[in-house]
Amino acid sequence: MGELRGFLKYRRQDVGHRPVERRVIDFNEIDLPLTPDDLRRQAARCMNCGIPFCHGAGCPVDNLIPDFNDLIYHDRWEAACRLLHSTNNFPEFTGRVCPAPCEAACTLAVNDDPVLIRHIELQIVERGFKEGWIRPQPAASKSGKRVAVIGSGPAGLAAAQQLARAGHSVLVIEQDERPGGMLRYGIPDFKLEKWVIDRRLEQMREEGVEFQTGVTAGEDVSARYLRRRFDGVLLAMGARQPRNLDAPGRDLDNVLFAMDYLTMQNKISAGQDLGGAKVVSAKDKTVVVIGGGDTGSDCVGTARRQGAKAIHQLEILPRPPETRPPDTPWPTWPRIMRTSSSHEEGCERRWSVMTERLGGTEVRVSDLHGIEVEWVKGSKGWQIKELPGTEFVIKTDLVLLAMGFVHVTHTGLVEKLGLSLDDRGNVLVNNCQTSVPWVFAAGDTVSGASLVVRAIASGRQAAAAIDRWLR
Ligand SMILES: Cc1cc2nc3c(=O)[nH]c(=O)nc-3n(C[C@H](O)[C@H](O)[C@H](O)COP(=O)(O)OP(=O)(O)OC[C@H]3O[C@@H](n4cnc5c(N)ncnc54)[C@H](O)[C@@H]3O)c2cc1C
Ligand code: SF4
Repeated sequence: MGELRGFLKYRRQDVGHRPVERRVIDFNEIDLPLTPDDLRRQAARCMNCGIPFCHGAGCPVDNLIPDFNDLIYHDRWEAACRLLHSTNNFPEFTGRVCPAPCEAACTLAVNDDPVLIRHIELQIVERGFKEGWIRPQPAASKSGKRVAVIGSGPAGLAAAQQLARAGHSVLVIEQDERPGGMLRYGIPDFKLEKWVIDRRLEQMREEGVEFQTGVTAGEDVSARYLRRRFDGVLLAMGARQPRNLDAPGRDLDNVLFAMDYLTMQNKISAGQDLGGAKVVSAKDKTVVVIGGGDTGSDCVGTARRQGAKAIHQLEILPRPPETRPPDTPWPTWPRIMRTSSSHEEGCERRWSVMTERLGGTEVRVSDLHGIEVEWVKGSKGWQIKELPGTEFVIKTDLVLLAMGFVHVTHTGLVEKLGLSLDDRGNVLVNNCQTSVPWVFAAGDTVSGASLVVRAIASGRQAAAAIDRWLR
């Protein structure tokens, strides 16, 4: 514990953001880092609890949070960087985009503001890169075993790095043009600039990880080929099947899945070729985002930067309470009202509303017809009740469907391998191993749509399981 009464002496200082009017004219990251002195004071707020819930109950990769806070307080940055990488392959991703369940589980959060854990993590890793402490760690000897990792999101990348460091030859097969998964094509640059991914990929290449992009496993390379050429295969293909809107008018022009819209902008920001695809921009349009979660919020921020005239975000669930409700007690992740930096940039949000239909002039969407709903608990659990007389219409030029993802895509490799699925449609695993013994699975493919930090944790676990199996 850095400073005995630090938590009484210092208040939490949150990370600043670039001013709204300046940040919405570009797609660059918006955070303004704390100075080293300010950061040290934030680390001093850590109480080094006997049972650190931030580490055990909060952080899915089990980051050793009180220990790195202590090291930062004592100005031992290199040791902190080493410690951080002992549990997390990519703290530069989580330090930028993790919702920080660790902070919700911090003991200070019981009746005060939690320690600023995520930003301390980010500053440690960024200093590590700047000082040259983060170097390739190639394996001392090779095992002679070959592993194919299908998918290059955070789960696949974490597993690939762990397996290569354990001495196995690793080939990452990715259907997109560049590696990164949702980190590259889902999450917008204003949360995570893409040079951050490229910097880490460089380290991985120097550690011997090979990448084959633009290749769809199950189509361009068959399951039989994978079986013949590799000793083990890891499926880290994400949960890419989007939840669709079951309402008349869904097929009108300018009604897009959020992921298609965000991918388009991420490719434009990176100067990538769109392969002749029609560009849909929010410029001068009234945009409706259906879905009140993080993907929806990313659509709001993207539409704002593209120059939308007005943005509405609709959510079917009720507005969450401002403070932690009894059904999500400390140290669990609280179901509370969250306002993202994108919401601050301007957007009208509505809760407890449902889309009944979309109307159009000729082929293009022109209006959304919705109704307010109530959630009623009955014998069959929570049910939606429409409230007659609350119907409303929003004139719109662009509707973005951000209602989440159901599960991994079943057509293709999952079907061809004949893998067992759980009752939610995720790939069923036992200690990361699927129903086909040489095939393992990790990340959203196994859990359903989740978080970057959980994908990293799952990739690490899968790598350990594959390593044990191969040996
Ligand atoms: C818009 C958006 C914003 C998000 N924001 C956040 C956030 O701020 N914080 C957070 O923690 N989480 C966020 N998430 C969730 C997070 O990105 C995912 O949980 C995480 O990326 C899952 O990692 P993964 O490796 O399991 O899968 P993915 O990142 O989805 O990667 C899977 C990869 O597999 C590839 N693939 C699939 N099938 C094949 C095949 N047959 N052959 C070859 N390649 C294949 C895909 O192209 C993809 O690159 C967000 C998600 C979205 C969509
Ligand atoms: S990875 Fe996420 S949960 Fe873990 S310490 Fe970092 S911010 Fe907290």
